[in-house]
Order: sequence, then structure tokens, then C-alpha cells
Amino acid sequence: MKPIDYLTELSFIRRGGTQEEFNAANMIKSWLEDMGYNAWLEPFDILDSTPGDGELIPIEPYGESMFVRPVGLSKCGEAEGHIAILDVSEPEFADKKNLKDAIVFMQHYPRQKWLELFREAGVAAALTVLGIHMEKSVLTLSQTNAAEFGNELLLSSISYDKAIKLVRNKVKRVRVKLKQEKYSVKSHNVVAELDGESDRQLIVVAHFDTTPLSPGAQDNAAGTAEVLGVAKRIVREKFARRIKFIFCGSEEKGLLGAKSYVAAHADQLDKIDLVINLDVGGNPFSPIIFRSIGTQELLNYVKGILHQKGMTGNFIEDIYSSDNMPFSRRNVPSLAIARAGIEYKGHSPHDTAELTCNEALVDIIDATEVILREIANSKFLPYERKISEELKKKIEDYFAERK
Ligand SMILES: [Zn+2]
Repeated sequence: MKPIDYLTELSFIRRGGTQEEFNAANMIKSWLEDMGYNAWLEPFDILDSTPGDGELIPIEPYGESMFVRPVGLSKCGEAEGHIAILDVSEPEFADKKNLKDAIVFMQHYPRQKWLELFREAGVAAALTVLGIHMEKSVLTLSQTNAAEFGNELLLSSISYDKAIKLVRNKVKRVRVKLKQEKYSVKSHNVVAELDGESDRQLIVVAHFDTTPLSPGAQDNAAGTAEVLGVAKRIVREKFARRIKFIFCGSEEKGLLGAKSYVAAHADQLDKIDLVINLDVGGNPFSPIIFRSIGTQELLNYVKGILHQKGMTGNFIEDIYSSDNMPFSRRNVPSLAIARAGIEYKGHSPHDTAELTCNEALVDIIDATEVILREIANSKFLPYERKISEELKKKIEDYFAERK
């Protein structure tokens, strides 16, 4: 099979924790076995919910009931209160007294800082106003916030056209009723390993799950196909370092597969010399971007060995919102390789295989193979295994924002 064949076969909706994601995991496992690898699934638990159903009824003046969508993993129940519009950019600017027992309307995603404000102010319920074209999307609490606020706060989204009607009609009081089912499901990582002469490790990772409505070709059947392509090229070889291929589930739900891997293999993390993450690809016109988390020495090294082989791209030291982050948070250097560009349709129903080609995938497979072989064969690590203070801070800020 060519890389594009893997991508094409994987381009179906495969949301974290669903049967479709499990099917994709087993397809990846069997492709690895066909190449000659020993591959296995590593399950982990995640909280999930049905899309849910809700209504909002204007009480003062009385009006017609309207549909609202509960925020996934938030509390079920009913509440009545006065409307408070939270038209501020940050929680510290909010008038907390006015929020007490209120039904709050705001345009922000229900992230940690807002949830803390709602708890502190004692709101009755809070609604995020969504653009009209976003009405079908389901907002969901992160796993961390679900554990902390999921049994406490009534949260929902409402589309802009409905919300503005309430303002125009000078509605003062409303009642909301929200219901959804919450349950625990299993998601899976797929792992395969190439034995090495030492216990030092290199990891190549890609997530294979999608958002709820997207067939996820560029994001990230592409990266999955690229990792499979790399694995195929080096099967049955033996390097100084062992190489692990990890295909992560539930990345789109908050890097859950990578977080679970890092937690389950905490004793191995100091043996990993580099994590290479392939997330987003398939467009041959866009430059390949190499984002390193380490020191300038790592980035210069990568750039140097690629230039020697006549390969190029954009090289920057930066974080990347993907599966290398949980590793780098634990001091493992990483390199994220991606190309998006024109016609990037990630997270939408339009992210289909027709917008990708084999050539674009092979470019990234070539570059990854060069980097991997060089480092895997080096007796002494050719760069300092360290993350700069500046990047460490960026990583901490990233996780604080996304709790
Ligand atoms: Zn992705």
C-alpha cells in the first residue's frame, strides 16, 4: 500500500471513543502487522456524552420556547433567573454581583477561567452565543473541567439569531432546561516498536482520531499515513536507539491519547531522546514547517542534516497544539512536522482525501526518515537533551489555557 492508500482508507469520521475510532485503530494495527511489526492497542478511559437536548423559555415577558444545545459533560437540570450579558474580554472585568443567580450570556468558549468565575459568582446557568453557521456544533468541556465543574454548572450554547432576539425583545427573565447522558468509554493508542542496541528511544507519533463531523484526511489521516510510511521503510533494521511508533486516539478531545501514554509510561520518559510528531499534511504546495521544542542546537541540527540531503522547509522553535506537547511538558524534546496551506479544511466535513496527494506525504516521510536515521544511528546524541526556559514557559501557558 502507498501512503495515500492508507490516508484514503482512513478518511471516515472517527471521533475519540467511538466504534469508528476503534475500527481505525485495528486497521492501523493490521497494516503494521502486515509490514512485519508486532503491534498492540493500549486502551484508556475517557468521559463522553450524547449531543444533548435543551430549551430556553422566556418568562418575563413570556415567549416561545427555543432550542439550546447543552455543553457536553456539563450538568443536567433546570434553572430560572434574570439575564446577565457578560460582554467583557476577561473574567476580572465582570460585575460579579449582577451574575449572582443569573442566566449569563457570553461569546466565549466555556474554558476554565470563565467556569471559575461562574462558580465564584454563583450563576444559575451560562450560555455561550455561537455564530449562526456554528449552531450544529457541540461545545464540550475538557476532561479536567468535566471532573471539576461537570456536576455543578448548567452550561449550554445558543445560536446568535436566537440570543439577539431575547435582547431585542427586552426579555428580563428566562428558564433553561438541559439534559444529556454522560458515560465512560474506551479510546485506544496503537503502538509498535523497532528494537535497538540500547534502551534509548526515539518516538514517532501521529493522532488518528477526528472531530465529530470531519473525515479528517489532512488532519490527520495524512500524519497517520506518513508514520506508517516511515515504519515501512525501516522495518527489520536495527539502530543504536529503539524506535517506537505511537498512533494516538482522542487527540481532538484534548491530547488524551498522548497524555494517557505519558502517564502510563512515566518511568520511560527519561529514556526518550526525541519525539517526532506528524499532524496535518497532504498539500504539496505548502512549505513543510518544522517546529522544535528543545534548544536552538536541536533546530540547527535538524536543519543541517536536511540541507545536506537537499531538503528544506521553514524551521522555527515553537510549541504546536498536538501530541508532542504532553511529552515536552515532561522535558522530552520534540519536533512537529506539518504542512497545511491553501485548502486546509481541518475539523470540517470538507477535510476529504480529494484535497491530498501521495507526493505531499512522501516529502514528509523522506524528511522524517532522514532525521530518524541520523539520530537513531548516533552513538552520542548530537544535540543537548534540554528544553529552553522560554519554551518551557510557553508549554505551561498552553496547558494552563486549556485545562
Ligand atoms: Zn490534528
